[in-house]
Amino acid sequence: MIEVRGLTKRFGGHTALRGVDLDVARGEVVVVIGPSGSGKSTLCRCLNRLETADEGEIRIDGEPLPAEGRALARLRADVGMVFQSFNLFQHRTVLQNLTLAPVRVRGVPRAEAEEHARGLLERVGIGDHAGKLPAQLSGGQQQRAAIARALAMRPKAMLFDEPTSALDPEMVGEVLDVMTGLAREGMTMVVVTHEMGFARKVADRVVFMADGEIVESGPPADFFAAPKSDRARDFLAKVL
Ligand code: ATP
Ligand code: MG
Repeated sequence: MIEVRGLTKRFGGHTALRGVDLDVARGEVVVVIGPSGSGKSTLCRCLNRLETADEGEIRIDGEPLPAEGRALARLRADVGMVFQSFNLFQHRTVLQNLTLAPVRVRGVPRAEAEEHARGLLERVGIGDHAGKLPAQLSGGQQQRAAIARALAMRPKAMLFDEPTSALDPEMVGEVLDVMTGLAREGMTMVVVTHEMGFARKVADRVVFMADGEIVESGPPADFFAAPKSDRARDFLAKVL
């Protein structure tokens, strides 16, 4: 459902992605790992067209990424993204955070959007906090709200860029549990994370990046037991 071919992205003189090829099948969970600066975030941001590729092609369900306008808004609804910093609208309640875009972008009637939103907040375990402002929630609760907000658009796929990196350790588990649940329900997911336990347990495939390239990729059992490249071995020696 996600096809990436020859994706190259430069920032000035620096090449952040060098001809990346990646396929993500419907329902597949791909965990992307690699050292700082290897291009993981840039890859995610290109998939959602937060960055524009210099070369190469990205297709979602066979369609090239739209450049602008309503089609681009729909793409961002279809491919939800969750960032390290929760990026909630600070002056809106949690419930409003979930209903704004479905009403504006998808044209969902307000009552229906609210009912769906309340169900999602229950599902991520913060049903009691619908009327609060984001600042009144813990980091873990805010991140779960951010996931629910992406889900409110009924996305086809979800991108996560280090969703637990900004959290206090005791809140990491509750966010990973929500992501694990989503994966089990068959959501197509691309997850950049340093949580190797999550990668082992939940990933269908681990993709290891270094210097803007996918150096190797494979099922987590194989990758963690016997990484093929020196760079992956070095990386694992540092993080495991
Ligand atoms: P980290 O693990 O630290 O989040 P990453 O793998 O996500 O790293 P990217 O953020 O994708 O790495 O960055 C890849 C390279 O591109 C880095 O060298 C970075 O400095 C550079 N880069 C990323 N975004 C920009 C930008 N907006 N302008 C200039 N350079 C950028
Ligand atoms: Mg990053």
